[in-house]
Amino acid sequence: MDLLTAVITLPFVFVFGACIGSFLNVVIYRLPEGLSLIHPPSRCPHCGHRLGKTENVPVLGWLWLRGRCRWCRAPISMRYPLVEGVTGLLFCFVFWQYQFTLATLAYWVLISWLVALSMIDFDTMTLPGVLTKSGLVLGLIFQGVMGWQVAQTPEYLMTGVVSAVLGIWLFDLIGLGGTLVLGQQALGGGDSKLAAMLGAWLGWKYLLVTSFLACLVGSIFGMGGMILGFIDRRHPFPFGPFLALGAMLSLFWGETMISTYIRLFFPVS
Ligand SMILES: [Zn+2]
Repeated sequence: MDLLTAVITLPFVFVFGACIGSFLNVVIYRLPEGLSLIHPPSRCPHCGHRLGKTENVPVLGWLWLRGRCRWCRAPISMRYPLVEGVTGLLFCFVFWQYQFTLATLAYWVLISWLVALSMIDFDTMTLPGVLTKSGLVLGLIFQGVMGWQVAQTPEYLMTGVVSAVLGIWLFDLIGLGGTLVLGQQALGGGDSKLAAMLGAWLGWKYLLVTSFLACLVGSIFGMGGMILGFIDRRHPFPFGPFLALGAMLSLFWGETMISTYIRLFFPVS
């Protein structure tokens, strides 16, 4: 992408992503509670005051109110603008890499699912099946359409299905291994469903990169947390955010990581 196109398009992409992030905030809070995602409109959780148009503007609304409700002055969590800002940035990354293609649209969907799943797992230690299952189906549709667009072949779809099954097996196995080592349940059932969803979206190669990164960063975080004392051995921490992080790293730098790995371990002599 040349600089001029980037300067013109990226601000729009960021604002669009932040608006999606604003809706994801609603999903993150309401879906685990079983509440409607559409009705009622956003309110202050403290006093119930309905948010006006200006207060609902992603990121800026929060900054303008200096993080407080206009009516009752109760503090509004910084998570709202953070989720909006991060979603906006991730949308920009995807657009930067895939530009005006079907892949951009598809990966925006994937990013949205991953942001919602990560935050819900962080809050509730569960990955709702309604999100992992719909994500899996969307991933397979994406592979089907991509296969058709590239070469009128069902090969992509087949790879997606096989990779999804691999994801379930792999994470049931990792979970079993972790349970044996830790002497307690290491992974929730939702983790293997999320892995299946990522397999469908990314294919088995990137699924393996994703799993490796998630386990690596997750265990560094877990050990560091235990040493520093903010994680208790008996209280597990959510693994979904690490899988999501691994998936995003694979999406943006997967090719670089795989080729570096091959160069390091299988040098051409
Ligand atoms: Zn209020």
